[in-house]
Amino acid sequence: MEIFLFSLICLMIFMFGAALGSFFNVILCRGPKKEDFIKTRSYCPECGHVLNWYELVPVVSFIVQKRRCRKCMCRIKLQYLLMEVLCGGSALWAFMTLVEFSSFGIESLTYEVIIALLLFPVLVSLSVEDIKVTEIPYWCTGTIAVLGVIATVLSVFMPTKVVWYEHLIGMVVIALPFAVFCYLGAMGGGDVQLTAAAGLLLGWAIVPAVFIAMIIGGVFGVAVKISKKRAVICFGPFLSVGIAVGYLYGYEIIHWYSNLMAG
Ligand SMILES: [Zn+2]
Repeated sequence: MEIFLFSLICLMIFMFGAALGSFFNVILCRGPKKEDFIKTRSYCPECGHVLNWYELVPVVSFIVQKRRCRKCMCRIKLQYLLMEVLCGGSALWAFMTLVEFSSFGIESLTYEVIIALLLFPVLVSLSVEDIKVTEIPYWCTGTIAVLGVIATVLSVFMPTKVVWYEHLIGMVVIALPFAVFCYLGAMGGGDVQLTAAAGLLLGWAIVPAVFIAMIIGGVFGVAVKISKKRAVICFGPFLSVGIAVGYLYGYEIIHWYSNLMAG
C-alpha cells in the first residue's frame, strides 16, 4: 500500500480512538455530578467558557493551547491528554494487529476490528477510573457485555475465531471461581463482573488474559511491597491489559502453550 494512504489511515484510526477517549473522559468527569454529557456542550470547568470546535480537537488542541484554557488561562488536567493519547494509541495498536494489509490496500476487515476500536478505549477508561476512585464504572462493564453479546450473535452466522458456545464458556470459566473469591471477600465485585463481560467477548482467550493480569499484578504488588509505599492496588488496570492482549493474541497463546505441553 502507498505510504501516504497508509499513514492517513493510521492517523484516522488514532484520531477516532482519541475522540472516543475525549468523549469517555467527559462521561468520567460529569458522571458523578449527574450532568448531561450529550446535550451540554463541552466547557472549561474553571470559568465555564464553552469550547469551540478548534478547542476540541483531541491531542492537538491540548498541545497548541499549551495545556491552558484560552479564556481564563487555567491549566487543563493532564487526564484529558492521557485519555486521548492512550485511547488513540490502543485503538491503533488493535487495528494494526487485526487488519491484514496488502499492496492494494486493506485485505481483510472483520467485525472483530470494529469491536476492538470500541473495546480498547473502554478498557483505558475503566483503568483510569479504577486507579482514581478504585471502582470500575458500570457503563464500561456494560459496554463490554453488549460487545460480547453482539460478537456471540454474529459468531452464529459467520465463520470466526471464536465459536458461539465458546463465548458462553468464556463468560463463566473464570468469572465463576472469581465469584467465589469475591464471596470470601478476597476480590471486588467489579472485577468479577468485568471478567464475566470480557469472557463473553473473548471466549477461551479470557484464560490467558487473566493469567497475564495476575502475573503483571503480582510483579507490581511485590514492587510496591519492596518500596514500602502504601498504596491500594486495584486489579482493573491489570485486567484491562490482560483483556487487550487476550483479545489480540489469546488463541495464539493457547495454541503455543498446548504445543509446548504436548512436547
Ligand atoms: Zn477557563
